[in-house]
Amino acid sequence: MTDPTAPLIPLSLAHLPTVGGLVVPWITPRTGNGRHLFGAVDGNRKDHALLGRLCGVCGRRLDERLVLLLRLSDLPRRCTAEPALDPICLAYTAAACPMLGGRLDHYRTTPQALDPTMAPPADSSARRGAPAEPWFTVWLRSYKVIADHGTIAASYAGSTPMRIRPLTWGPLFSA
Ligand SMILES: [Zn+2]
Repeated sequence: MTDPTAPLIPLSLAHLPTVGGLVVPWITPRTGNGRHLFGAVDGNRKDHALLGRLCGVCGRRLDERLVLLLRLSDLPRRCTAEPALDPICLAYTAAACPMLGGRLDHYRTTPQALDPTMAPPADSSARRGAPAEPWFTVWLRSYKVIADHGTIAASYAGSTPMRIRPLTWGPLFSA
């Protein structure tokens, strides 16, 4: 069944499966019984995307404009373990993702059931039930891959972003 309020799917995402009218990002893991775990990340695809400069949503190579999504608390560290997006996928994701769109006030309170190859968000247990944080878009021409807490991350330390913009500011800006 398709949700009539689901945003239009850009042509560049037509190759991906959908659930309820929403595109399943390339990086979203799938359980053995075929369920998509929205919000979780396929660890192999995450690393592949970070190292290969691929977009985490469409899985295609990024060109000269790419965007990292950072939470407010990530900004001082200038890095994120989540792959970059191209501008089209960013616009679609901001419209489609309830957390990014400011439509969820709190993180999910129950842990997701993950297969062994799946990585939960790095600090998911700390975030569980916590108020949702504002997100920012960091627009870049490139990033560096760094080692970070036993995983790899995209860093823009030492380079100046083209711009940094708030994507959501929680309940303050939502009607
Ligand atoms: Zn993309």
